[in-house]
Amino acid sequence: MKIIRFDAGSGPESGILDGDMIAGLDGDVFGDCKPLSPRLQVSEVKLLAPCVPSKIVAVGLNYRDHAREMGLSLPEAPVLFLKPPTTVIGPDDAIMIPPAAGRIDHEAELGIVIRRRTKNAGPEEAGKVILGYTCANDVTARDLQKKDVQWTRAKSFDTFCPIGPWIETGLDPSNVLVEAYLNGERRQSSRTGQLIFNVPFLVSFISQVMTLEPGDLIITGTPSGIGPLQPGDTVEVRIEGIGSLKNSVRLQS
Ligand code: MG
Repeated sequence: MKIIRFDAGSGPESGILDGDMIAGLDGDVFGDCKPLSPRLQVSEVKLLAPCVPSKIVAVGLNYRDHAREMGLSLPEAPVLFLKPPTTVIGPDDAIMIPPAAGRIDHEAELGIVIRRRTKNAGPEEAGKVILGYTCANDVTARDLQKKDVQWTRAKSFDTFCPIGPWIETGLDPSNVLVEAYLNGERRQSSRTGQLIFNVPFLVSFISQVMTLEPGDLIITGTPSGIGPLQPGDTVEVRIEGIGSLKNSVRLQS
């Protein structure tokens, strides 16, 4: 099932996408809900970011092939950092490049959307606490990341977390293809089977640290092939079994 948020002209609504048609929802997307009869074509609405996270928990180096390529040893525990909710944009929104911020990179990542309030969950509970999965782009100001002691500034500019186009609830995330395309050219490609810390482990590990709330987002790290974005570019994150998230890139004035 594909859960979307959209605006048909009267503000944000949630729905289910079935082919080209959108059905509204009877109930709460994080609780019990059922689709109503389809009433809109997807072409008639603007798709929004599919969730409104209270926080975005990101994982640093988490792909074996990327670690190998970089000559880095594998971390013993996940390296966590946060991105503020104000980084979130939706499908087709523009990533705004801050002036004088230096190199800005794309990072294609699998996003995990949390279903219910979660604290101290075991890995075996992951299936119950996850609502579904989405495509994410952990846009990063690489020069600032290297220059600053920690990563907050580099990861936190407005528009630096495109997500979407929907939340896929039926995905088995254990070995899906994660790719980034820049202006139609493939730049990143790996499978989640290469993750050093897998989805159930990450949900459990993070929930030992902080309470996860419905709609919170975990982004799971990026494969090799990160590269710079320029104004005028189009960047696409494509994940097998979910879909494609496309965003333009513009210079912030
Ligand atoms: Mg990242």
